[in-house]
Amino acid sequence: MGHPWKSKGKKRTVVWGQEQPEEVLQYLRDMQDAVRYALQVAYRTTLRDEERRLPSPIALRREVRGWFYSRYDYARHHINPVCRTAVAMLRSYRKNHHGELRIPEVKRLAMRIDGELFKIVECKVRITMQPNNYVWLPVNTCNKNYQEYSKGRPSELLITDTKVCLTFIIRDNAVKPLGDRLVAQDLNFKSVDSTKASLSSSQSSLTSVDTQPLKEIVRIQNDFSRRRRALQRHVKNPKKRLQKLRETRGRQRNRVKDALHKLSTKTVRENPDASFVFEDLRGIRKTSEEAKRSRKLRMYLNRWPYRMYQSMVDYKSDNRTVYVSPRGTSSKCPVCGGKLEHPVWAVSRCVRCGVDYDRDRLASLAILCRGLRLCGQPFAVSADASWQHMRHEYLHPSAVPDSWRAGWIDHAASAPNPDAYTKIRV
Ligand SMILES: [Zn+2]
Repeated sequence: MGHPWKSKGKKRTVVWGQEQPEEVLQYLRDMQDAVRYALQVAYRTTLRDEERRLPSPIALRREVRGWFYSRYDYARHHINPVCRTAVAMLRSYRKNHHGELRIPEVKRLAMRIDGELFKIVECKVRITMQPNNYVWLPVNTCNKNYQEYSKGRPSELLITDTKVCLTFIIRDNAVKPLGDRLVAQDLNFKSVDSTKASLSSSQSSLTSVDTQPLKEIVRIQNDFSRRRRALQRHVKNPKKRLQKLRETRGRQRNRVKDALHKLSTKTVRENPDASFVFEDLRGIRKTSEEAKRSRKLRMYLNRWPYRMYQSMVDYKSDNRTVYVSPRGTSSKCPVCGGKLEHPVWAVSRCVRCGVDYDRDRLASLAILCRGLRLCGQPFAVSADASWQHMRHEYLHPSAVPDSWRAGWIDHAASAPNPDAYTKIRV
């Protein structure tokens, strides 16, 4: 179920006996009734269909939701497993009875609970019954496999009147092989900058660098921030405003997620033989002291898409993804090890190299170098022939002598102090 990329990895389930509280038992009885109702609807829909096709769970949900929402005040997501269960039961009944279709009996008090509706908090399973109303079930942490399995991502929860089954997806990252190439990506609000390199035991070398603009995502983000500003200005009722803002944020999240799916699928397809290298953004929230100082880190905190993009690529790629420390990727020159200055945001100036680099491209090179080191292939940039070849592609446009005059108008805004430039450029 769910997105195909979600189910990569092994599933492991922990089961334990559980005497359910009355609230859960009532819930199970209600869901049993709901499945019975959904079965009838699905059955009638199937008979009406000329080819006797079963409805999809989503089509069934359209038919059932009026009844469901008027009857129960459970969180709205609870309708999804009901419809999936009903369709699955009809399908297996037909399969087991040589194509004959009848409404099967719902005997068991059991319900599968979607990932959106439960969470594991401090050794307890928290199930959302209604928005802001939870049922807490203790997890049997004595189960001999729990410690190991719970390192994975909780994916499914099945509760019956007597037991609980909790399934985890084990991300078996170490098992994926390393690719033949490395693609190091620096993620920014407006672009993804990639430096690619071939990986070989004798001599690794740079192969290309490119900048891919994130037009679609920038457009969505700007669109929504405009909409939010309008809401803040025009909706006077604070309660209603909060509600509207929350809705807008949810919609924005979905649109960005969709765009990220497309982008990550495309990127992985274009580099089937490569391992991706990213900055490790996990747990970055904790280093708030550093975040106060670094603009980029601060930006990351608010921009969950970076992390989401990384995990999508990680799941979709057949090769192992390498994560490197993000510390100092924009303060230390990957070419000579000197200190970088940023006269303006887009420029990384290395006094020792004596040039202005494109900040984002240079950052992707820094990430690549760290990735190569992690793969046991230390890489001396300045001594490498491929670097000499590609060096000009890493320069900031205003630092390339030929385009200096031509690009002057464009880059005037990002070069507030031309005197400083000429001093450095000699
Ligand atoms: Zn340098």
